[in-house]
Amino acid sequence: MDVVDTIDALRQARQQMKGTVGLVPTMGALHDGHLALVRQAKAENDVVIVSIFVNPTQFNPNEDLSKYPRDIPHDLELLRQEDVDLVFTPTPELIYPEGFQTWVNVEQVSQGLEGERRPGHFRGVTTVVAKLFNLTQPKRAYFGQKDAQQAVVIKRMTRDLNFPIVIRICPTVREPDGLAMSSRNVYLNPEHRAAAAVIRRALLAASSAYENGERNADDIRIVIEHVLETEPLVEVDYISIANAVTLHEIEIQTDDPLLISLVVNMGGTHLLDNILLPAAHNTIDGLTDTLGGA
Ligand code: AMP
Repeated sequence: MDVVDTIDALRQARQQMKGTVGLVPTMGALHDGHLALVRQAKAENDVVIVSIFVNPTQFNPNEDLSKYPRDIPHDLELLRQEDVDLVFTPTPELIYPEGFQTWVNVEQVSQGLEGERRPGHFRGVTTVVAKLFNLTQPKRAYFGQKDAQQAVVIKRMTRDLNFPIVIRICPTVREPDGLAMSSRNVYLNPEHRAAAAVIRRALLAASSAYENGERNADDIRIVIEHVLETEPLVEVDYISIANAVTLHEIEIQTDDPLLISLVVNMGGTHLLDNILLPAAHNTIDGLTDTLGGA
């Protein structure tokens, strides 16, 4: 496995690659959710590139950039075990050299949800992902359904800018109690960690209500709130019930596929999860194409 941290070395290694290339962009502190993307990329491509870059431009000033978990040696060990071909570990100065002033901005689908709570977040994500696409020229790139809005935004960017890249969205990998795996879960103390399982329970309660015919957004929201209220340690940031393609909030009632997203704050750590309804969809892959939307 090659590990490179300069643009020249990356381009040189890329030129020598034969066959299809799969790219998995990450911020490191790797867990089984990341490794599921790597395995999917391995299964579908001749060569796999993983990037590890804690992207400063997607953090807000009040967020956890400096204390974001980092453990490159451990990450490299995990990636070696997965037989990854190349790992790109740039510094912020390499990605954003002095004078940097060019940004990629997806205008509409990055507005609500996380975009509203974290102004500028998606501009940072799309800019770095566009740069990684240019640098690695993959045939396919892999992202997680856990960050559903990010997946929609990146699919939109890829179409709008004509990147010749297939965006693959992989299902959310969970802990045994249902908590979505996340690099940020290490911030949780044992009480918060145990209580965090309520997030998945609340989303599954929404799913059951939906399967029983409930279509009213307010009533679905009440179902979620009732489950969350059983855990006093959980503070709700937002509950979004949105059209899964446009990400427009559903006002009253709809038969369109829904993306229900939930962000809670537990002792200063924001935990994000979502569910797609009808439950037959476990990622937005396919959904966006069949609906002719994003
Ligand atoms: P991050 O390092 O948190 O930026 O995540 C890198 C990629 O892994 C993103 O595409 C995430 O959506 C994806 N990812 C993170 N956690 C999970 C998970 N639990 N299951 C599946 N994909 C995930």
